[in-house]
Amino acid sequence: MPEQSESLNPYDIALQRFDAAADLLQLDETIRERIRLPERELIVHFPVKMRTGRIRMFTGYRVQHSTARGPAKGGIRYHPDVTLDEVKALASWMTYKCATVKIPFGGGKGGVVCNPKELDIHELESLTRRFTSEISMFIGPDRDIPAPDVYTNPRTMAWMMDTYSMHRGFSSPGVVTGKPLAIGGSEGRTEATARGCVIVIAEAARRMGLKLKDARVVVQGFGNAGSIAARLMHDEYDAKVIAVSDSQGAIFCREGLDPHRVIEHKERTGSVVAYPGADAIAPDDLLALECEVLIPAALENTITAEVAAKIRTRIIAEAANGPTVPAADPILEEKGVCVLPDILANAVGVTVSYFEWVQNNQGYYWKESDVNARLKEIMVDAFDQVDLTSKRHRTSLRSAAYVLAIGRVAEAHSWLGIYP
Ligand code: NAD
Repeated sequence: MPEQSESLNPYDIALQRFDAAADLLQLDETIRERIRLPERELIVHFPVKMRTGRIRMFTGYRVQHSTARGPAKGGIRYHPDVTLDEVKALASWMTYKCATVKIPFGGGKGGVVCNPKELDIHELESLTRRFTSEISMFIGPDRDIPAPDVYTNPRTMAWMMDTYSMHRGFSSPGVVTGKPLAIGGSEGRTEATARGCVIVIAEAARRMGLKLKDARVVVQGFGNAGSIAARLMHDEYDAKVIAVSDSQGAIFCREGLDPHRVIEHKERTGSVVAYPGADAIAPDDLLALECEVLIPAALENTITAEVAAKIRTRIIAEAANGPTVPAADPILEEKGVCVLPDILANAVGVTVSYFEWVQNNQGYYWKESDVNARLKEIMVDAFDQVDLTSKRHRTSLRSAAYVLAIGRVAEAHSWLGIYP
């Protein structure tokens, strides 16, 4: 069994998970080293003119972990705690995620250290455009394709696309995904991550003999992925969403919340807190609630060993990237919790990004029903393969997903060889 670490550095965690899977695969030493390290890391420091006329410096990152299976692909995060190590970890998870669902992309990620809640729309636009300029030699439809992540959205992607297109002198929709529909976005993209997460929950529940009707669902992080997952669990599976949280607090209602109304409340007030008809609970208590499905959809490292010891759920579906630290894994396994790992459970976001990129390159756009049918086929197939690998290696679904993904990246390297 691999040594468990209590480090909360996401990059240490990513390497630890990689090493465990590489050991299981008995991966050749040279290929192991190539996959272990990111191919490229770019750090930029750039000025933005604020509304007050003051100039403020910001730091941003773009990391391309692997381009062995195709162009790098991955989101851009705006958050005060963004670090190079976090971006490196997220970029490597993108490589494994794309390989898990077998889409022809490598892994990338980017971020800017900032608090978007303190910036007005003009400052956000200036920051986005300048950051895009700074990384423009790195990105491109055939090189590296950003998308939204935490605190970035289709609006951000529209500014990125416009800035890149201005540099090129022609419209280049394929440079980013997660765009608004009017400028080449894909039908179904907004809901995609949550829809994929819910599809794998349904597959896992079916195999465990767990009925989702009236199943109690808890969601940590009521943002894009979390709020839509709550809505889909409620609308499509008649599940009971009993508690949700965001960065400002958590709410609980034993009889079940109406996610549509909670979404409206959050749009109106900026938070789920003080939603009428629900009780406030401590955010830490939310993860310990007895439920059938727990969906962490906020940030990394929320399920530590200490939290895992208190968890009372049947399924954890990792809509967020890296919510569970390695030290929590054996505790959850011991408790018999089925953990649907991030590189599978939230992989539909990038799958529909891939569909968007294909549509941009073809100049031919698909109906939402086509997008949803294709994503379902990909997710059910990916779940099957991960499940089979887990049985073959007698290991968790997480280790199985890593084994499958790293095996595919290694195969690509073995065909590509080494240049020159
Ligand atoms: P988002 O910004 O829309 O939502 C994040 C939510 O988490 C917000 O509501 C925020 O208030 C909440 N939050 C932050 N800190 C919290 C805390 N300590 N406790 C509880 N809630 C907290 O972002 P998103 O796009 O929904 O992304 C959420 C996670 O899902 C991230 O890990 C992201 O990398 C991952 N993800 C998102 C997508 C996507 O397509 N949106 C795809 C793949 C993975």
